[in-house]
Amino acid sequence: MLEVKGLRKVYRSGSREVEALRDLTFTVDNGELVCLVGPSGCGKTTLLRCISGLLDPTAGDVRVNGKPVDGPPPGMAVVFQEYGRSLFPWMSVRDNVELPLKQKGVGRARRKQLVEQSLEAVGLTGTASAYPWQLSGGMQQRVAIARAVAYEPQTLLMDEPFAAVDAQTRADLEDLVRQLWKRLGVTILFVTHDIDESVYLGQRVVMLSTSPTVVQEELAIDLPDQRDQLTTRADPRFIQLRTRVYEQIQAAKRNAMR
Ligand code: ADP
Ligand code: MG
Repeated sequence: MLEVKGLRKVYRSGSREVEALRDLTFTVDNGELVCLVGPSGCGKTTLLRCISGLLDPTAGDVRVNGKPVDGPPPGMAVVFQEYGRSLFPWMSVRDNVELPLKQKGVGRARRKQLVEQSLEAVGLTGTASAYPWQLSGGMQQRVAIARAVAYEPQTLLMDEPFAAVDAQTRADLEDLVRQLWKRLGVTILFVTHDIDESVYLGQRVVMLSTSPTVVQEELAIDLPDQRDQLTTRADPRFIQLRTRVYEQIQAAKRNAMR
């Protein structure tokens, strides 16, 4: 289980202070797919950096299976927003996916197997020897997902991973995430500013307010488990849920302006 409790983060540069997160408390159960939605600049990336042990919180704490996070937790993988900067351009697709496995100490034969399996899982069989810059944005993001999946994480954090790809590719990648989640039984915390995306993907949506950031509300997404871009998005329940999230975010904005 992932537990975030009373998390606060204040950035300090010289005499200037930015309170990126005021007070965040929520949990994600093992095997759950939770979406965290909030406006740009509300501290989503800051939160993920705290969860993945890359940044020290100012107050509060993060625990993974009861253990406080004080560095990158074992069994956690992150897919960042900017795939362009997250892949090494001088390494082939295969080498990019394999690198973290080497660092993890996985043996050669098993590495080869994991790389092949994960590239297949994201529909990239046959591109293993290509370089990232030879691929489209959507394909590069698939490589980043394959790299995370090959690592066999227990927990996968995704930071607005599809913000920079076109709408059709985005829909395909959303379905890929749900498919991988079901197949691998991994815990996923998926961060987005896109309300529809959060409702389409999540079992639960945690809504963040605008800055100073707190958890505004949590909403269980009681849509059928089998989701489909056309049927699910046209489901009256989907419309109700997205409206609910939208209203909450508007309310948060109004409160912030008061
Ligand atoms: P989001 O990912 O939701 O867009 P961020 O976590 O990137 O939000 O940023 C939250 C706030 O913290 C913003 O006001 C941003 O300018 C500020 N911030 C982010 N990183 C730093 C940093 N390294 N130093 C100072 N302020 C920062
Ligand atoms: Mg961000």
